[in-house]
Amino acid sequence: MSILNQKTISKKLSFKGIGVHTGKNVKLDILPASPNTGIVFKRVDLKKNNIVYPSYSNVTDTTLCTTISNEFNVKVSTIEHLMGAFYGIGIDNAIIEINSQEVPILDGSAKIFVDSIYNAGLKFSDQPIKVIKINKNVKIENGNKYISIDKSNVSSDIEFEIKYQTNLIGTQTNKINVFEDDLKDIFYSRTFCLFEDISKLKQMNLGMGGSLDNAIVIKKNEILNSSGLRNKSEFVNHKILDCMGDLFLSGYKIIGSLKCSQGGHKLTNELLRKVFTDKSNFSLIEIKGKQLPYNFANYHNLKSIA
Ligand SMILES: [Zn+2]
Repeated sequence: MSILNQKTISKKLSFKGIGVHTGKNVKLDILPASPNTGIVFKRVDLKKNNIVYPSYSNVTDTTLCTTISNEFNVKVSTIEHLMGAFYGIGIDNAIIEINSQEVPILDGSAKIFVDSIYNAGLKFSDQPIKVIKINKNVKIENGNKYISIDKSNVSSDIEFEIKYQTNLIGTQTNKINVFEDDLKDIFYSRTFCLFEDISKLKQMNLGMGGSLDNAIVIKKNEILNSSGLRNKSEFVNHKILDCMGDLFLSGYKIIGSLKCSQGGHKLTNELLRKVFTDKSNFSLIEIKGKQLPYNFANYHNLKSIA
């Protein structure tokens, strides 16, 4: 049993909740899967053409969430918190059965997915993991927003900055090492929105299931949720969770150093598309024991996050 082997969950896990944008009730099951399956979504409310792969090339919408579609226009949306949980924990293979279009928002973070997966435990296979190693700098800029990824020796770093006019958020930055850090604050950080944006969202038929139970809402310089924040960098930490989830649409862990200012689902997807247009940008490598970078031995998922 090694952290360098592919992992799945040890047993089926079930979740029920509401889609934050559709407002629909949804049931989602995570099932163990064999090595080299990857992550696969199956729309069990549909009888055919119901498999959707969470690949960067299947992303068809990035408006306030990440939506993937297959060739028959069957969609799964708001996949990023679940994918972020898988990326951070190190789940390589799983089948996700879902009976509606949108992944349930639960508490607005990845907490409930992560706690359930750790409680159930992981199942290790005898197959080595594969990782994508970034070979050179790739950058996307859009006005004052940017995202870039560069090579790193053995780590998977994400450095994120957000800038908001409201003083309550203001400028926040955080940097994590996905392989080494305790990611509890990242996993537990909730999505957020400004009170004044809610009516605009509803006019766009978005946020129909949103509430103080699944999002932090900021009105002027006040947090409307009575229990306040879960950690002092919750806003930027949530953006890092989103970023981890969107990065996992590469299909693998990424060894590289990512920096982002004021980006989101769209910019992360554009970055992956740019990385994978040129084979010299990256290598896909199989990690075996003797190639083990020292840092992998400290992989956080061996520690309890409780
Ligand atoms: Zn999010």
